[in-house]
Amino acid sequence: MRVHDLTRHRLSVAADFDYVWKDVEPGQLAAEFQKDPPEGPTDYGQILQKLEKNIFPGALSWQHPQFMAYYPSASSVPAILSETVIASIGSVGLQWKSNPIGTELEVVVMDWVAKFLGLGPAFHHTSGVGGGIIQNTAGEAMLNMMICARTRMHRRLQPDLSWEDAFHQDSSSFAVYISDQAHFSVEKACRLAGLRCRRVPARLEGNYSLHPSDVKEAMEKDRAAGLRPVALVLTYGSTNTSGTDDIAAFKDLAKEEDLWIHVDAAYAGAAWALDEFRKDSQAVSDVVTSVNMNGSKWFLCGFDSAFLWVRDRNLLLDVFSASGVFMAEVGETSIYNPEFKDWSVPLGRRFRALRIWMVFEYFGTSGVRSYIQQAIDQASWLRSKIEESPLFEQPVQTKFGLVCVRSVKGEETTQQLAKHLSDLGYGIAPSKICEKDALRIALGSAATTQAHVEQLWKDMVTFAEQH
Ligand code: PLP
Repeated sequence: MRVHDLTRHRLSVAADFDYVWKDVEPGQLAAEFQKDPPEGPTDYGQILQKLEKNIFPGALSWQHPQFMAYYPSASSVPAILSETVIASIGSVGLQWKSNPIGTELEVVVMDWVAKFLGLGPAFHHTSGVGGGIIQNTAGEAMLNMMICARTRMHRRLQPDLSWEDAFHQDSSSFAVYISDQAHFSVEKACRLAGLRCRRVPARLEGNYSLHPSDVKEAMEKDRAAGLRPVALVLTYGSTNTSGTDDIAAFKDLAKEEDLWIHVDAAYAGAAWALDEFRKDSQAVSDVVTSVNMNGSKWFLCGFDSAFLWVRDRNLLLDVFSASGVFMAEVGETSIYNPEFKDWSVPLGRRFRALRIWMVFEYFGTSGVRSYIQQAIDQASWLRSKIEESPLFEQPVQTKFGLVCVRSVKGEETTQQLAKHLSDLGYGIAPSKICEKDALRIALGSAATTQAHVEQLWKDMVTFAEQH
């Protein structure tokens, strides 16, 4: 299986580093550079030396096998090689005509990935109604969705309103509901779209999850105070603890309230590729208006590959369509020529679809799937070790490739453990769960093997036995 090649062939220069991160102070790196740009040319030999001296030491090695912080941003050899091809072609996808293969391949790969994840035909371009688009980040995808949700609601309330006028209506009573575990970019998206963001407390029950009755209650209270529920953003794989909201459970509420339901599956949407999690992507297909998932996290596609799918492209077209002279007229479209400039803010588009295509060509769906499974297997192994051990405890029941752990001896020992692992070269982010310190160990870096995880466990046990 080619996925195993990833660990034999060095993924990138970063994977060759013997450290994940180095202690540097802000400004220390920039101080090594001249204040003005060089007057004359520098040859490649010298540039390589400068890369070694001034650039690599300041880069956090996200592709390193001991990188287990945040969530992974797993890249792969085909993803890295594709960037050279993309830059060499150098086409800018302003519209279909400005790089026809750029648009058509994006349509093809967005349908490939939707099928791979089990998102139903409603989200496929070939439906002629739904479809997917690559955005820069999950945060931008969600901002776009919130703007569309706002505009849709104005048109629902006043069906005769033109789209133009819909933008100039007062939205100050419009509210969006999210879990208190949702990523802060959801809150930011609501704020920028001019919507009130209501964080509803998720229930712990194993690992945080939002309950429909709590959301309903919050909506009823808000309605009594003059607010109008417009959208609900559910999280599938929360950033701190990998908690998931039960998407299917919100079906009735969505209908009753005529809500735009968006699912932020930036990290854990990758798991839908596995049979075990298929029922959740089935729920997305049944219930939601739009969904985002990052191909740049746990998917081997590298940054930036923020996928967004919508059930009805018209909801985007009515907000983002615009054209000018020497551009295609709005509406001159077909399945393989959807004019992505009318689906989102940017006009110029990088040929990111090529990266996704190369990753799937190289590994096949079986290779990508086995890579995703590998992170789950590593995390399950580590969780089972922690469960059996009297030295550690898990504050929540994490899922996917995430493990959250703390020392049974309390806050101070947990903090010391974090420092100790960092000194040993691990990139592991400390966090707070239920207001107490915990370590988040996010597996899924493409270079991390079972042997690395077993070594980590040994290092944790050795520390705990001595403290
Ligand atoms: N949503 C979730 C669940 C995340 O974990 C993250 C980042 O880790 C984001 C959104 C933000 O992603 P982006 O950096 O693509 O905006």
